[in-house]
Amino acid sequence: MVVVTAVAAVLLVAVVRHRDRRSARVALTDALTGLGNRAALTGRVARLLAGGASPGLLLLDLDGFKDVNDTLGHTAGDALLRQVATVLQRTAGPQAQVTRLGGDEFAVLVPSPAHGAELEVLAKRLLAALSIGGFTSGEVPLDVQGSIGIAVAGADGTSAEELLQHADVAMYAAKRARAGVLRYDAEQDQHSTGALEVLGQLRQAMEEDQLVVHYQPKVAGDGRLLGFEALVRWQHPTRGLLPPAAFLPFVERTRLIHALTRWVLLTAVRQVATWRAHGLDTTVSVNISAASLDEGLLGMVEEALALTRWPPEQLVLEITETAIVVDPAGARRTVQRLRERGVRVSVDDFGAGATSLVHLRGLAVHELKVDRQFVSDLMAHPEDEVIVSSVIALAHRLGLVVVAEGVEDARTAARLRAMGCDELQGYLFARPLPAAQALAWARGEQGRLAAGSAEPAAAPTGAAAE
Ligand code: C2E
Ligand code: MG
Ligand code: MG
Repeated sequence: MVVVTAVAAVLLVAVVRHRDRRSARVALTDALTGLGNRAALTGRVARLLAGGASPGLLLLDLDGFKDVNDTLGHTAGDALLRQVATVLQRTAGPQAQVTRLGGDEFAVLVPSPAHGAELEVLAKRLLAALSIGGFTSGEVPLDVQGSIGIAVAGADGTSAEELLQHADVAMYAAKRARAGVLRYDAEQDQHSTGALEVLGQLRQAMEEDQLVVHYQPKVAGDGRLLGFEALVRWQHPTRGLLPPAAFLPFVERTRLIHALTRWVLLTAVRQVATWRAHGLDTTVSVNISAASLDEGLLGMVEEALALTRWPPEQLVLEITETAIVVDPAGARRTVQRLRERGVRVSVDDFGAGATSLVHLRGLAVHELKVDRQFVSDLMAHPEDEVIVSSVIALAHRLGLVVVAEGVEDARTAARLRAMGCDELQGYLFARPLPAAQALAWARGEQGRLAAGSAEPAAAPTGAAAE
């Protein structure tokens, strides 16, 4: 009885050990391909690092795998992943360890590469092997391409997690650039992390009203206030008041720009409607990014006009030459429809682009804003004077209003007036101001004009002014 119990106990221990070993193996194996999984990879990398080695990590993602799944079904997708696993293992050789991280993502670990270049060569061999892999789903031949990111221990990371993360960053960069293979680049990463951070925060900023609009007056030759240009700023919780240059370039590369354009447009229209209720009747100019100059803009404009009983001719949209050049036919259509609706369109930064004149032909715009670079040094550079006076003459012949932006001193203002420039804008008159100060400025200016003074008021220097 005792013997039987002892034998049973030994057997039980053996069974449990076997089961433990089996479940440990299962926990480290990818069920679909039989390759190691993410846990197996991180464990192996951690052990290599602990032993003082500098392993290299290749992270591969297939391009267009989702299409295979979507069009041929998951069974075909799974079969393809198994074929890919086999090709990768064969090409990587016995020294390297291939794992499947999940989905269509694989990693190849090289325990001790001689140098980074060796990894690049291997990465290219892997991609070449995939592209001639002869993959099929039943009768259907499948074309398989991929992108690979490389990270090497030491230079590109000091832990398994960091190496994986950086290889992933490099892989996405390779995919975006359609480069095939890219090694991790810390500097580029910082840049893109910075951009992503800005975008993430900006979404929140829009929800939490951290964006503000400042208003800069545009005046007539005789100093009369004609309107304000709405200029967006970001009241950042830790970095202070940020100018558009600090965030717009990132936003303009994403769809978020449409939300920003709409927000500025509605805010500006509401603001000027409030001023109107206070007896200040002006126009407002809103900058429209190239990406926002499309059908969607017409909807936003309708929304803005419906918001208040707003006369359309008091709304000016400033577009740049870039927008016109990128899609001339589309820009022409949108501008035409805006004109039919009674909204005015201005070409901003005129002269800064290369193709100005040709694209103005047939464009139903109302105003040209001469780029600041020609205005700011007008008195010092005779060529700038020639350019500005020619632009004024040309614009007038085309029936357009000319605005000079960046007017900083009284002599330049006087010269521009003498040249026949219709409207002036710049620090000489006022910097972009928060709404309350803009209203105060307008009232002061009206009072001063009524009193008959010809000189513009000094730009406010209060804490809230820029
Ligand atoms: P912009 O439309 O040409 O606006 C004029 C810029 O010149 C503004 O810079 C203004 O502050 C600055 N400025 C005005 N007078 C003077 C002057 O006398 N001297 C100098 N040196 N500068 C002057 P800001 O506000 O930094 O805006 C820069 C650009 O950002 C704008 O150029 C516009 O292209 C863009 N932007 C601003 N707000 C928005 C917006 O709401 N949406 C879009 N899409 N773009 C915007
Ligand atoms: Mg502008
Ligand atoms: Mg401008």
